[in-house]
Amino acid sequence: SQTTSPIVIIGSGLAGYTLVREIRKLDKTTPITLITREPGYFYSKPMLSTAFASKKEAAQLISTPADGMAAQLEINILSQTDVSAIDASKKVVSTNKGEIPFEKLVLALGADQIRIPLQGNAANEVMTVNDLEEYGQFREAIANKKSIAILGAGLIGCEFANDLTLGGYKVDVIDLAPQALGRLIPETAAAELQTKLSEAGVRWHFNTTVQTVDRSGDSLSVTLANGSNITCDFVLSAVGLKPRVDLAKASGIFTGAGIQVNRELQTNLPDVYALGDCAEVEGLVLPYVMPIMQAARALAQTLTGPRTALSYPAMPVMVKTPALPTVVSPPAKGVNGQWKTQKIEGGLEARFESDDGKLLGFVLMGSATAQRATLSKELPPILT
Ligand code: FAD
Repeated sequence: SQTTSPIVIIGSGLAGYTLVREIRKLDKTTPITLITREPGYFYSKPMLSTAFASKKEAAQLISTPADGMAAQLEINILSQTDVSAIDASKKVVSTNKGEIPFEKLVLALGADQIRIPLQGNAANEVMTVNDLEEYGQFREAIANKKSIAILGAGLIGCEFANDLTLGGYKVDVIDLAPQALGRLIPETAAAELQTKLSEAGVRWHFNTTVQTVDRSGDSLSVTLANGSNITCDFVLSAVGLKPRVDLAKASGIFTGAGIQVNRELQTNLPDVYALGDCAEVEGLVLPYVMPIMQAARALAQTLTGPRTALSYPAMPVMVKTPALPTVVSPPAKGVNGQWKTQKIEGGLEARFESDDGKLLGFVLMGSATAQRATLSKELPPILT
């Protein structure tokens, strides 16, 4: 279709669809085209790391198919359509299905899973689960298997570790850091989570990394840098995310860790915006649901009416580990202060406090998660 849509959005993840929903609350009629290389269904990505124990097949995670989304939101969806270039002066994007003109363009491209270079004849069998299609492939690949090694003890690695033990798998987790959730929580809190997950059947391998993955017959042999060896049936990689910046970068859009935008979610080009996992807002890349909700609300205003600046309140993240439910709100990078950890009946509370006693971050585990709302109110906003 060659008719110009005033608003073109690339990406059918939470960022793309939440933005459309927010625009439609303010404006029912402006034509919107959403382009995606996925089938265009709406699904909840956070469920990918909890769906196994609840025995959900990939198809069961789709809440609305593309035609349903198009009808509900009154938009035009171009699915299975890959955008390969943006020409901001001609105001068109190039796709495998032709050129699509735009007046305002929004990049909601998401992030790729980082791949660490691995040696060995089965290095290419290592999988990631970063979207619904990969989840489907993963489910199929592990169907008759018993043991899984997970690279990465971050949020996603820990959630998968818990989910897969609940699904009956033997799980080994490997991380370069000395602890789980190394970027988010202090050592004492991590120790609690590690203990609970160990009791659930997880074996930890910290301070090391995977060197080789080799297949011998039905099983895989994983060699670690510390010299030990793990025999397993499958290897899942969850070592971190990298915002998708290449498309923007090649089109003259400024990128750093992510696609760089100002408080109005605008890139250095006048009518090109970005939000979600691909975006870097004033130096912050926050690949979580809550920041997307905030950004979508602000950007919907800017696209349909007065330019509106984004603000971020404190946005705690739930770590979906039923072995020990955990809520984290890490302190901003580089701020001064100390962790103060207190074990309570059935849980743990860790407060990150400034020298004058102000709460700047927290970890709540088990029974302490009940304090989530109270402590959140004490935290300073992330962007005012
Ligand atoms: P995506 O969902 O990745 O969407 C990007 C879209 O862009 C896709 O539709 C893709 O097809 C499209 N696209 C990209 N490039 C192109 C192109 N060139 N042409 C066409 N289309 C393109 N966050 C929380 O807050 N809480 C949680 O509990 C939580 N759990 C998680 C569990 C897992 C396993 C994972 C992976 C993430 C989790 N997150 C969680 C993070 C959260 O899911 C993400 O922040 C959010 O889903 C990102 O949405 P997005 O729309 O920015 O990106």
